[in-house]
Amino acid sequence: MRTVTGFAAYAPSEPLRPIEFTRRDLRADDVAVRVTHVGVCHSDLHAVDGLPAGAPPLVPGHEFTGEVTAVGADVTRFAVGNAVAVGNIVDSCGVCDNCLAHREPYCRQFPATTYGGRDLRDGSPTQGAYSTEYVVRDAFVYALPAGLDPAAVAPLMCAGVTTWSPLSRAGVGAGTQIGVVGLGGLGHLAVKFAVALGARVTVFTTSAAKADDARALGAHDVVLSTDAEAVAAVAGRLDFVLDTASGAHDLGPYLGALRLDGTLCVLGLPESYTVSPMSLLGRTLTVSGSGGTAETQAMLDFCGEHGLTADVEVLPFGEVNTAFQRLARNDVRYRFVLAL
Ligand code: NAP
Ligand code: ZN
Repeated sequence: MRTVTGFAAYAPSEPLRPIEFTRRDLRADDVAVRVTHVGVCHSDLHAVDGLPAGAPPLVPGHEFTGEVTAVGADVTRFAVGNAVAVGNIVDSCGVCDNCLAHREPYCRQFPATTYGGRDLRDGSPTQGAYSTEYVVRDAFVYALPAGLDPAAVAPLMCAGVTTWSPLSRAGVGAGTQIGVVGLGGLGHLAVKFAVALGARVTVFTTSAAKADDARALGAHDVVLSTDAEAVAAVAGRLDFVLDTASGAHDLGPYLGALRLDGTLCVLGLPESYTVSPMSLLGRTLTVSGSGGTAETQAMLDFCGEHGLTADVEVLPFGEVNTAFQRLARNDVRYRFVLAL
């Protein structure tokens, strides 16, 4: 076994504390990655807040970059020293229809998530990348795009592909009218992608102080979502709205912002949403998770071509609790990344 150190949640809403634990010895198709940068996703915060009483310690972290330190006997795509990136799925059955379509997050056997899940072969719990090293099946490892900063690539592996996937599936392109709800880790990348794809972008934010940032990211319009009149002015205009807000809210205004046959895609995982059935008339509501391996690679290729990465604030690994506290009070521009 390989001994690693990291940070774990031991109880809901308590600060993370250091932990030492072991990772498996490499299987023939495994890659060992020394983690150099790991993004702090709001899902990590949700996971720690929702940790069941008496649960074993949980090591979060599901978007990271690093350097290959060892490879299994059958691995041909990677070699020691390669710069790589890993996201929130680390294995799947590989044979169900969804896996064959490269939509591994929807694997019918349920995929192995990077943490908080189960290894598909030995059933052991998975522990995340707030740790010095990760061992992962090679099919779920991606080459770091040349020329991009590994700190700013780490968030692409969850926040990036989660927003890229619905935008690319919706065929967003020149002239599409896109709304993005919530300018955080996911939201700021959604704006960058939509702008790079040629869309016209409206940001809905609860934070007036983010309006200038939204425009600097390329948004064409910024609507303060607490201003009912401003929201009403957008009614019936947008083709597709991506809702990335992390807190409970009413979906009505965003459904109302859609044109006939428009789509609201919900990505956030708050405790609840309110939605009135009448507001769905003439609109579609979809709930989306992350993208699979093909979309992740396509997203990384796009980012490499466009020099597109996350806007990050890099903190030393030991400041993980500062990152958590600041993320909880919406004080992040726009993703914390921990550097090991
Ligand atoms: P984040 O960086 O904290 O950004 C969330 C943003 O939502 C905030 O910056 C804020 O933006 C807005 N917001 C927060 N509370 C709100 C409320 N009560 N009402 C309206 N807006 C609110 O979080 P993130 O990492 O981007 O994650 C966003 C959500 O997506 C989380 O729930 C996360 O768990 C989820 N997620 C889902 C997937 C998936 O596969 N579906 C993957 C990753 C993350 P403004 O200040 O602009 O209002
Ligand atoms: Zn995430």
